[in-house]
Amino acid sequence: MAAGKSTTRKKIQATDLMNQVMSDYFYHLNEAATSGKQKVAWCTSVGPAELLRALGFAVHFPENHAAMLGATRMSTELIPEANSAGYSPDICSYLTADIGAWMKNITPLSKAYPGIESVPKPDVLVYNTNQCRDVQDWFSWYSKELGVPAIGISSPKNVVEVTEGHIDDVARQIEALIPTLEAISGNKLDMQRLRETVTLSRECSELWKKVLETATATPAPLTFFDGTIHMGPAVCLRGTQEAIDYYRVLLAELQGRVEAGVAAVDDESLRIYWEGMPVWGRLRQNSDLFAGLRTSVLASTYCSSWIFPSFDADNPIRSMAKAYLELFIVRSDAYKERYIKGMLEKYRIDGIIYHDAKTCPYNSNSRYGLPQRVEADTGIPCLVLSGDLNDLRCVSDEQTKTNIEAFVEQLQERQ
Ligand code: SF4
Repeated sequence: MAAGKSTTRKKIQATDLMNQVMSDYFYHLNEAATSGKQKVAWCTSVGPAELLRALGFAVHFPENHAAMLGATRMSTELIPEANSAGYSPDICSYLTADIGAWMKNITPLSKAYPGIESVPKPDVLVYNTNQCRDVQDWFSWYSKELGVPAIGISSPKNVVEVTEGHIDDVARQIEALIPTLEAISGNKLDMQRLRETVTLSRECSELWKKVLETATATPAPLTFFDGTIHMGPAVCLRGTQEAIDYYRVLLAELQGRVEAGVAAVDDESLRIYWEGMPVWGRLRQNSDLFAGLRTSVLASTYCSSWIFPSFDADNPIRSMAKAYLELFIVRSDAYKERYIKGMLEKYRIDGIIYHDAKTCPYNSNSRYGLPQRVEADTGIPCLVLSGDLNDLRCVSDEQTKTNIEAFVEQLQERQ
């Protein structure tokens, strides 16, 4: 490596603004929950957030909270609490970390945002099983614990092509939620407000797509590790102007980097695609490891899952149904293979890493021969890394480092 070059990825200046946006979001949620002035809904990551916002709910995303438990490395201590209540160490470690945190009355929000004592108490829990069954189990636990309703959408899985029949089914389920949500919120659904919210979600999604696509440039101006942090507003503030305003700033900075040829990782020599969940408790460590190897992990399925091209204000409920169904995680392996191959070409990828997350089979696409089929078709080598999103007992740092170094060496030899 050239003298004076950094072995860590470069800081994105917009990060301070993003921290402020997220801080405002969490304080607003806390105020809603503690003052009782606004009803609070908990929502799964690709649940009907647009509907909830249009009905005037403040929206909390437990998966975001669980990721914070992982990133702050609190989760491994908390998971056994949920295990002792009968929730297996083999199921989703977002679920077990989050329920464990509730049982111990702990939250990383208190440390990050002084004055916030707990996650915002919900008035209703709204799930969509498009990603997995675990979210329904997760919300059912809170429903019993807090005596609030858990309602939601049961989604098809392994979908090859999204058909009108699928959309009819999910759209009707969304419509069926409305009377209950109106009764809890005390507001009648205003279709114009729903249209506006869907428009805002669409705009957020388009900006987020452009942000991620800046990494098609060589060298890439941002990495997967940046993406996992900067996706916060796309996850928690989809359907708001705040998210749009933030992504305009971030996009301008990244476009500036592309024009100036500024790399996220100095001397980028290899370009990697990350398939699967992040290892939240090892973001910094993994980022530094790759940067030290002059390797940029610059695109991922995970960050791209918050791109929803189908949102359409002219047909808000059907377009929400379509957007929630088109998600990568809902789809068949045949679709996933096509999608991954498209991403490899678009980002000019040298190698793929599949994270086989012990507690999330739904986001681990290395168990049914997919990596081998993609490699046979594209010739692009892959590495399967065993680990987990939140349970660090499933992560071997030594093994990860050895495997990644050997993989990078193999890719360098091919060059
Ligand atoms: S998709 Fe995986 S990580 Fe997300 S909630 Fe479901 S099991 Fe947990």
